[in-house]
Amino acid sequence: MKAPRSARRDAAPQTGRLPLIAGNWKMNLDHLQAIALVQKLAWTLQDHGYDERIVEVAVFPPFTDLRSVQTLISADRLPLRFGAQDLSPHASGAYTGDISGPLLKALDATYVIVGHSERRSLHAETDQVVGAKVRAALDSALVPVLCVGETAEDREQQGASAVPVAQLRAALDGVPADADLVVAYEPVWAIGSGQAATPEQAQEVCTALRVALGEVLGAEAADRTRILYGGSVKRDNIADFMRQADVDGALVGGASLDAAGFADIVRFPKHVTR
Ligand code: PEP
Repeated sequence: MKAPRSARRDAAPQTGRLPLIAGNWKMNLDHLQAIALVQKLAWTLQDHGYDERIVEVAVFPPFTDLRSVQTLISADRLPLRFGAQDLSPHASGAYTGDISGPLLKALDATYVIVGHSERRSLHAETDQVVGAKVRAALDSALVPVLCVGETAEDREQQGASAVPVAQLRAALDGVPADADLVVAYEPVWAIGSGQAATPEQAQEVCTALRVALGEVLGAEAADRTRILYGGSVKRDNIADFMRQADVDGALVGGASLDAAGFADIVRFPKHVTR
């Protein structure tokens, strides 16, 4: 399979950034269920005439499913990529229960989610820890999908962009300008709530994130880095997000567990003209 960056050369001409639809399965589905979902997703995408040069699809199963998903994708040459939902900031050693970048790379993972709000809140991951994980991912040639986003309280007190931009800046500390990463803007209040941000709200913060990317990593990085929106994305609202100039795809939680619904989200180019 082509690397994401080379694939991007064939991307939609409007931005030059290949849209990415990413499914975060969270702590759902065992390895047998994972195989069934990936097979059904691949068949459904094929039936829809899926073209990986127009939109990229990646799934993020639990750790225990990764080997099964890798084997299936590789054996059947499926046009899908996969990643993990987290990684250790350390490469190896006495870190019981953790999974490192080199272990994920050995499975041919392309991506790894870093700094999801559930890890920040439930596992007390600070900006420093998230930054260390971003660097660990890059050290293992994994593409970090760096999640940032504000709570409802943050938004009320500081406006929409302040916290996501501060989280991005902190996580980029020590990251080289040519780093291949994806940013996911996920307002915490929109995750799993059924109350998605409006497309205009998503665009406002994604624009602020792109400006910050430019200030920290330079104009070229800002121009090429994909910024996803995440938070209650469904087949009914994806097209409106994808019409936004700075939204390059979606990180999808609940709706990624249903092959037909997720495949419909991947079909957004059929009804979007930017
Ligand atoms: C997520 O957890 O990354 C997410 C976006 O969840 P949902 O789509 O269910 O809101």
